[in-house]
Amino acid sequence: MNQSPYYFLTNTDIEIWNNSLDCDCEVDECISNHKLCALCKKVIIFNSYEACQPTSQYKWNIDHIIPKSRFNELTNYANLRNIYNVNDKKNKQITHVICNKIKGDEFNPNFENGFGFINNTNI
Ligand SMILES: [Zn+2]
Ligand SMILES: [Zn+2]
Repeated sequence: MNQSPYYFLTNTDIEIWNNSLDCDCEVDECISNHKLCALCKKVIIFNSYEACQPTSQYKWNIDHIIPKSRFNELTNYANLRNIYNVNDKKNKQITHVICNKIKGDEFNPNFENGFGFINNTNI
């Protein structure tokens, strides 16, 4: 426990983190430690990666925008997004674990995040 997220995340995961929506709150560590969830647009704290802080309400992981389980069924939508492999970084986004669970295996092609906005009142 208390292992750095760098221990668990791949270089691609870090790239996905870096390319995520920026937070701009007042906290000193904001630039180095905050991004926004693709689903609820509220803060995600880097050090709260789920493998590091499994009990945190802020825990986060990486969501497949087009769900793994439905990738074959949704190939046409994947192609429209130039995604040719379920694990392509273009098919991934950072989300709170609770937001990711709400999204489940849904996919709505009208939204870049594959779902729409989640009003997450737990954060
Ligand atoms: Zn912040
Ligand atoms: Zn969220």
